[in-house]
Amino acid sequence: MSCPVSGMAGGQCPAGSVSGSRSSSRMGPRGCTFSGYAQPGDIHAAFDIPRGVDAEEWLRMRERKAINEVLYSNIPSVKEISGMKNIDELNVAEQDLLAVALGAPARQVMIRAEEIGPRTGWKDGYLSVEHGFCPPDYNESPGALANSPGRIWSDLCERMPGCVARGRVRESVAALPIIEGTPEIIPDKALWAAVVALGMLCSIYRYEDKNDGHEGVTVNPTKYRPNCEMSDDLGEELINIPRSIGLPYWQISRRLGRSIPHLTFFDQSSFNMKIKDPTSTYPYVGRFDNMEMRWPVFGERTEIAFQKGCADTSASFQHGPDAIAACQEHVMNRNVEGLLREMIRLKEILERMPNAFHTINTNPNSGENYVPGHQWVRWGKFSAPLSKRCPASSGLQFPPFLVMDAFLGRKKYDSFLGKEGLHLRAWLPSNLRAFIAAIEYHYRIPEFVQQSGDPRLMGVLDGIIEAYTGERGFMGTHRYKVFGILEIASKTGRTETNGLSGAPDSNDRPWEETHKQFSEAMKERLEPYRGNLAVEPHEMRGTFEECRYRSRILSRAFVDNDLNRSIAMVTLDLQNTGITFQPGDRLAVMPLNSWDECAKVAAALGLGDYLDYRVALNPQWKRFAQHIGAVRHGSIPHLTVKDILRRGHLAPITKELALKVHDLVRASSTTVLQVLATTEWPVRGSLGDLLQAALTDTNPHIWDQAFDLTGDMAWLADLIPVEVPRTYSISNYSQELLPSAVDLSISRAEYKLCSTFAGDQEILRAGVGSGFLNPFLNSNDELIETDEDVFIGVSRPLNFQLPIDRAAPCAYFAGGSGIAPFRSFWQARFARHSNTTGRDLLYLGVQSREKFCYEEELRDYVEAGLMEVHLAFSRDSRGLVYDRRIRDLVEKEMPPRYIDALIVEQAATISELVMSKKQGGLGGYLYVCGSVAVFDSVMNGIRKAIYNHCSATMETAEAIINKAFAERRFMLDVFMTPKPMPCNLPTIPLSQLARHTGHRPDSRMWIGVHGSVYDVTDFCPMHPGGTFIIKSNAGVDCSKSFDNLAHTNNPEVSSLLTKYFVGQLTPKPDFHTIPELGDLYDLWAAYLRVTVETLVAHQFEMYEIMGASDQDGTSEKYLRGSENVWSRENLVNIGLGVRMFYDYQSRLLQGGFSALFGPKLQELVLKLSFTLADAAGTGENMRLPDVLGIVARAKTSPEAVVTSQEVALVGQFVCDSSSNVRFAERGIFNYAAKSVELDIELLEDIREEACHGMDAFESVMAMEAGSDEQRLTVLASFLMQTLERMARRLEVFYSKLSKHRVYAPELERNPARTRWNLVRRKIKDGSFFILTQETVLGAAPAYMSVQQRKTGVDFDSVMSRIQASIRSAPKPSPAPQSLNAMHLARAITPPVETNAMATHENSTAVKAMSSFIDANMRSIRRLSKLPSNLSFEQIQAAMEQQQSDYGRVGRPGRPPTPPSVSSRSTPFRASSRAPSIDRMMASYNSRTAMHSSRIPGNHAHSLSMSASHSARSPPTPPLDAAAAMNAMMGKLNVRSRGNSVPPSPHGSVTSTASDRSRPGRSMSVRSVSQHQSGHASRLSTNSLRSFRLGSHTGNYAGGIERLPVKIAPTF
Ligand SMILES: Cc1cc2nc3c(=O)[nH]c(=O)nc-3n(C[C@H](O)[C@H](O)[C@H](O)COP(=O)(O)OP(=O)(O)OC[C@H]3O[C@@H](n4cnc5c(N)ncnc54)[C@H](O)[C@@H]3O)c2cc1C
Repeated sequence: MSCPVSGMAGGQCPAGSVSGSRSSSRMGPRGCTFSGYAQPGDIHAAFDIPRGVDAEEWLRMRERKAINEVLYSNIPSVKEISGMKNIDELNVAEQDLLAVALGAPARQVMIRAEEIGPRTGWKDGYLSVEHGFCPPDYNESPGALANSPGRIWSDLCERMPGCVARGRVRESVAALPIIEGTPEIIPDKALWAAVVALGMLCSIYRYEDKNDGHEGVTVNPTKYRPNCEMSDDLGEELINIPRSIGLPYWQISRRLGRSIPHLTFFDQSSFNMKIKDPTSTYPYVGRFDNMEMRWPVFGERTEIAFQKGCADTSASFQHGPDAIAACQEHVMNRNVEGLLREMIRLKEILERMPNAFHTINTNPNSGENYVPGHQWVRWGKFSAPLSKRCPASSGLQFPPFLVMDAFLGRKKYDSFLGKEGLHLRAWLPSNLRAFIAAIEYHYRIPEFVQQSGDPRLMGVLDGIIEAYTGERGFMGTHRYKVFGILEIASKTGRTETNGLSGAPDSNDRPWEETHKQFSEAMKERLEPYRGNLAVEPHEMRGTFEECRYRSRILSRAFVDNDLNRSIAMVTLDLQNTGITFQPGDRLAVMPLNSWDECAKVAAALGLGDYLDYRVALNPQWKRFAQHIGAVRHGSIPHLTVKDILRRGHLAPITKELALKVHDLVRASSTTVLQVLATTEWPVRGSLGDLLQAALTDTNPHIWDQAFDLTGDMAWLADLIPVEVPRTYSISNYSQELLPSAVDLSISRAEYKLCSTFAGDQEILRAGVGSGFLNPFLNSNDELIETDEDVFIGVSRPLNFQLPIDRAAPCAYFAGGSGIAPFRSFWQARFARHSNTTGRDLLYLGVQSREKFCYEEELRDYVEAGLMEVHLAFSRDSRGLVYDRRIRDLVEKEMPPRYIDALIVEQAATISELVMSKKQGGLGGYLYVCGSVAVFDSVMNGIRKAIYNHCSATMETAEAIINKAFAERRFMLDVFMTPKPMPCNLPTIPLSQLARHTGHRPDSRMWIGVHGSVYDVTDFCPMHPGGTFIIKSNAGVDCSKSFDNLAHTNNPEVSSLLTKYFVGQLTPKPDFHTIPELGDLYDLWAAYLRVTVETLVAHQFEMYEIMGASDQDGTSEKYLRGSENVWSRENLVNIGLGVRMFYDYQSRLLQGGFSALFGPKLQELVLKLSFTLADAAGTGENMRLPDVLGIVARAKTSPEAVVTSQEVALVGQFVCDSSSNVRFAERGIFNYAAKSVELDIELLEDIREEACHGMDAFESVMAMEAGSDEQRLTVLASFLMQTLERMARRLEVFYSKLSKHRVYAPELERNPARTRWNLVRRKIKDGSFFILTQETVLGAAPAYMSVQQRKTGVDFDSVMSRIQASIRSAPKPSPAPQSLNAMHLARAITPPVETNAMATHENSTAVKAMSSFIDANMRSIRRLSKLPSNLSFEQIQAAMEQQQSDYGRVGRPGRPPTPPSVSSRSTPFRASSRAPSIDRMMASYNSRTAMHSSRIPGNHAHSLSMSASHSARSPPTPPLDAAAAMNAMMGKLNVRSRGNSVPPSPHGSVTSTASDRSRPGRSMSVRSVSQHQSGHASRLSTNSLRSFRLGSHTGNYAGGIERLPVKIAPTF
């Protein structure tokens, strides 16, 4: 006989034999050593043993229960048996028998692990009742390692951040002696610490090897070769890794059961922590605030916060495995009540998990939680697997996810993340795999729940599903968090992501792609419960899908002395729902329309007799019907007319609703037209009002046809959409396991019916939701009883919860019904731990004494000394004052006041509460709840209070408040219904939106959302997701992100947004007669977007480097910001700051601003050139600005070379801080400040140019033109010139930057040494003589003349450059790739370091160019003047040849790699002989000599541009778009299309000369006013509009307004 647990034969018990004894005391209650033996933790809870009973005895008794009693307690009836096809099924499965004989499998795995683990160093993986998958003692293994010879590895780990900063990793590793990882040397107890230490050492060694000690410009061409033995013979993972770490890593991995040495994300985070206070166990020990990272690799905040956040996520699941094992036991024993208890426990554990996300914050003010997303790139490279065989280091391997997937019976693993999860599961430690298998294959909990039919179990299971993988649960929150961080990271330094993000064939941007992948995985998890979802998870937010429980109203009670009951306490039934809730949670309620409203519609449409008729449903109503079926656990119901009327949206009247009626009645109703002419949407009235009125003025025949009652009435479902739920804060706290009821405090939203329907009368109406829950007294809704289901759902706002620390003081600020959530707060605080709670203070603002809610309850608390209550009555002088001494609220006559006055009065206490402990305050938790007006009033009061009490300026007061927000001690629950939005304000063009990125001091930040513009400057510091997330969308239309983040359906967001509304975005002009213009518009808008996003993203990095300002936006000088990396990370060791600057600047220079000057720009050039060439006609020898040439030359100009050399010098410091550059320490500092400012200036200039281009689209449509083609041509030539100006700005940028030097002896502490060091270096590399030459001669570089000779190129040259660029663009890697290969790719440094966003945008542009060329090849050939035997490739080849002759360009179309400092090429070498495309073309085609242009104006302008721009002076401001085009139109009007006689060369030359002599702008405007009075008047109308807009926005004053003088950027 063999042991059924271990499989050991001969009745031998392996545990017994291991211990060497088989004494009866070691035997479990079932006679098996594995079960029940020394059961740790609460044995009563684990085995569901009644309290007060001897557990051992009880278990023994239970064991004595016959198996048949447990398994055959409910044998089916005779009737059922006779109907069975297969009577074998009557007998239980063998695994059931075995499990009843031995115990639940998951528990068995756990018990075994607990017994064996401590003796074997937990080599099978940590698994215990109390600590779950975390180590019971986080110090044990590192301690054991430190006491073994393996200490050399942990010692080196401790030095790692320093070694990395100094580029000394490889040297230090090579210097280690070889210590083997065998059991005699490294004890079992040290195994986990050893694998973490060695794994990290191997990875960082490989990282440094690949990146040559740093990223960026290569300064050290000779690779470091350590002189030591390597581990190449131990498998491909360890090739080129010194044996001193490779061999023990290999040995230790094998001892841990890892056939291939590898490190998991879980190892690196969870096993790499120290616990600060092991006694602080509530609610779990491994919390962010209770942990410290043991061995960081880079030592940056990002790494530490991220790792701690991940460890926290796992640790918060600490008690999950025990709860799951207990669930399984209860299933095995068919114990419904026990199962219910454990499932509720599991749900609570899961609901706590997303809290870990708060610890990873993108708000720079959030102290040690701050994670600058852009820094993550280094970690990505570091954590890449050592070989393609290795399992990836991915968050998917975190055991809680794999366990929960198994628990919930996930079946589908088809998505990328699904496949990866399965793959990684196979690499988990044995105990964890066994545990997962135990719950996946045996006693599946969800199946039992479904079979039980118990609604409570089903409700709790639904809660578990939601908490784990729902929209508002862990997975949903995770997705939002990742979205924000990835967006920032992708726009800055990140070049790659896990999870297929940025897949080359995807049309979405990298973070959107990741979002999609996460959604796919969420859907796979939900599939067993919700089937194939027709909508994306985020689309379910704010819809009926969130209301997954049925309830009914139990009572409506008065809570104050207001006879109208404007606020009522409404109690809803929760019996049998399985709902649990916590303080701060919210209830979503699907309201039912009032009977009166239903009646109005029914009467108008003649539906009175049809109320119970079935309606043919549209897809939305069908989904709703399915949803009802699922919630009722029954079949899909048929919906009737009454259902649609009760549950559809009848009020207020939205534009869509009015338009539908308008269409149905064939535009024949004047009332409907009157409503449609409103200036505010939605209209305050209902569908019933509208139909009632329209009925009287519509032809009955039309009416009958529109609302046909003879058919299936499908029009009814189409007319009335499903209503959306309303959200209410839960107002009570329950200690019951499953609360039986929930209280809400409902304030009836009342509004006046609009005059269209009310006429002169003042008619009050109640809002739909509040009117349903708290109807007018004596109304039909109050009186009519109904048995209809009320669908509800619970959600937990992560940002509105009680502090974990019970002793923390809490202040609640409420206005009116804003008191609602606080009742649950104080009930919970006093119920749970009345002795240990900190102070509770309520500041309440209401209109009058009559409206003081919950007075009695509050007075009880005041008397008991539990609470301080401070009141403000806004319309009542009968005040109440809190008297601390007598613990009472005392009557006092006082003038009416608002809550802000009360707060100012209490300034001292409130200031102390707001200030953090570090600032000497109390570090209190502050909660604000109520309408937006209450929120404003409270915030003003707090600002003033702090200002009066403890700050010198309002800015400091603001900073103190923002700190509290960042520390998540300031939380909001703002609940107001959206205000109607005016629709008659001037519209805001895209360019204006783009200009409001808020990165400069005192500038504003706007965002565009679904056609509206909002000024979110003031909201930014409060954004719960962190300031950077909102900032990364500054100046652009972020509707897509908004939708993805489910903000669109979020009532909180929409109500807040109405507060910040600025106006509507100008819609895209109607180009229907010229579709090409529409395409160009989209293309240009996309480019503008990229310019804005790039500018904003660069600011993030600049902020890190320079930290230029305070959070509040007040300006500070460079390097004085409190948050910049130099001051934050210790100035003495400036390595980190230098590295950060170097990473940033070298990436930028290597990529050559690739997002702006790469394929995206080329695509524009291609399409514009094509348009212009096409307009010029076949065979015409037209000249085009050489945009691409200018860019290419700028990037390879001597100035660019100088700049790269300078950055390379900084790079030397990075990879070797003991190099000679250390003498230029302050110079580096200074250089960094100068160069980032120049970077930003360039980006601002480019954005400004793009804005002008954008404005041109509207102007061109407003002009008189001979034909559409002319419009197109005018616009194309204007845009082409704009692009040329952009290219010139790049030249200027390099030219300016090249003037700055790291070498600035006057700044250094030891100037003489710096000078001497520089001279020595220059002499050594030969550049000394060049330097002298420059100083002595002081001559202007000769290349300038070359620039001046550039007068444009022809179409063929443009085409050949573009073809070359397409050819050289990186080819998308063939899909599908293997999972491992994808992860491995992370480690590979791309040839040019571009961020993920740029890579995506550029690859899309390359694809677009290729298809454009393919589609237009015939036309391109026609427009080309190439001889048929020559191709563009040949021209390009010739160009390349010529260029390489001059030693200028490396590879075509690719940004060149700046040369190393050791290169002896001098900046001036090739400059005077820059290749001339003209010359080359001349050799191919003699016709090139004809330099006549088909567009004289354009030619003139480009000439004047080239002449006026030297690379050393910035280009003049661009022309006003409208004026410039008017000028061009004037000239174009005389040109007849297809004219075979070209304009006289003299004519064009004359005009060129005269144009050149005048400043561009005045010339154009004057020519407009002289020649085109009609145009001028249009122009002025246009300008007038702009002017009005300008006065509205306060910033916009016409197209050519320059930006304010450049000053330090701000955040
Ligand atoms: C997080 C949160 C918690 C809340 N907690 C509570 C609470 O505890 N107690 C409480 O009483 N309320 C609370 N509310 C407010 C509540 O959700 C409802 O907004 C409120 O009851 C009004 O809804 P209604 O259906 O009665 O009004 P509605 O019928 O929605 O209309 C009320 C008013 O809003 C206008 N309106 C409606 N929709 C729009 C729109 N799309 N655009 C512009 N204007 C519109 C209408 O014209 C009308 O003036 C909370 C809200 C949130 C977001």
